[in-house]
Amino acid sequence: MNNEIPYITLANGARMPQVGYGVFQLTDYDECRACVYDAIRQGYRLIDTASAYFNEEAIGDAVQQAVSEGLVQRSDLFITTKVWIQDYSRQGVRSSIEQSLAKLKTDYLDLVLLHQPYGSWQQAYQALEEIYREGISHSIGVSNFNQEKMTQLLSSANIRPMVNQIEIHPFFSEKGYTRWLLQQNIQPQAWGPLNEGQRGIFTHPLLTNIGKKYGKTAAQIALRWNIQQGNAVIPKSRRHDHRAENIDLFDFQLNKQEMEQIDQLDEGYSEIIDLDNPASERLFLKWKIHE
Ligand code: NAD
Repeated sequence: MNNEIPYITLANGARMPQVGYGVFQLTDYDECRACVYDAIRQGYRLIDTASAYFNEEAIGDAVQQAVSEGLVQRSDLFITTKVWIQDYSRQGVRSSIEQSLAKLKTDYLDLVLLHQPYGSWQQAYQALEEIYREGISHSIGVSNFNQEKMTQLLSSANIRPMVNQIEIHPFFSEKGYTRWLLQQNIQPQAWGPLNEGQRGIFTHPLLTNIGKKYGKTAAQIALRWNIQQGNAVIPKSRRHDHRAENIDLFDFQLNKQEMEQIDQLDEGYSEIIDLDNPASERLFLKWKIHE
C-alpha cells in the first residue's frame, strides 16, 4: 500500500493533490464529518465540496478537529468549494464565498469553481477574479465547461482558470478535450471518476482482469487510467476500505496496451447527465439553494 498522493502544479504555481475526496451527496452532518475526518487520517489532503452540497459545516468541523488534534495544519489541506448559478452576480459570488468560508471555518479557500456554465457565468467569473486578486481563494476555475464555453471564457478572462472539473471516466473519456485543456495549462479534474458505479464499472471484465495482474480492483484501474493521462480525480466513498483503495494507486503503472484497451471503453456520452441538453440547463437554472 502506497498512499503518498502526488501533487500537480497548477498554472499559477499552486500545488494541488492529484487525488482528492469528493463529498457530493454526503448530506448527513454526522456521517460527513466522520468521513472527512477519517479521510484526512487516511492521507487525503484535498476535499471537494460545493455550496450546493449542503455539507460545508460538517467539513469545517472535521477539519477543525483534525487541526486541533495536530493531525494536519490547515495549510496541509486543499479545500475546494463551488458557487451555484443562483449566485452568479458580483455580490452573489462574494456572499456565497463568505458563507462557504464561515461554514468551512477557514479564512481562505484553495480553489473556488463556478459550478455550472449556465446563467450569468461571465459576470460570475469576473467576480471570481476579484476574489483571487484579494487572496481569498488561492486558485480559481470552473466546472462542467465544454470546449466551446471554455473558449468563450478564455477570450474574455483576465485570469485564466487553473482547473476545469468535468466528468471523466473510462466510459466517457473526453480524451481530445482533456488533452487540449492540458495544452492550455488548465488542469482537468475528473468528477464521477467511477462513473457513480454505473455500467457495471466495479465488475467490468476488462478492468477486473487488468486489476488481477497488479493486485488491484477495477475501481483502482479506472482511477489509475485517469491519473496516467495527467488528470486529477476526486472519487467519493462513504466506506473506509473504499477510500483506502482509492488512494492506493501509486505502486503500479498501466502499460501502453492496457491504457489503449481501457480507451476503447469510451462511449462518447455521459449516462449521468447530458450537460449540452437544454433541458439540463433549464433544470439547473430553476434550482435554488437558498431563498
Ligand atoms: P464517483 O464516480 O466517485 O462514484 C461514487 C460511487 O462509487 C459511490 O456509490 C461509492 O460508494 C462507490 N465507490 C467509491 N469507491 C469505490 C471502490 N473503491 N469500490 C467500489 N465502490 C466504490 O461519483 P461522484 O460522487 O458523483 O463523483 C465524485 C465527486 O466528484 C463528488 O463527490 C463531487 O465531489 C464531485 N462531483 C462534481 C460534480 C460537478 O458538477 N462539478 C458532479 C458530480 C460529482
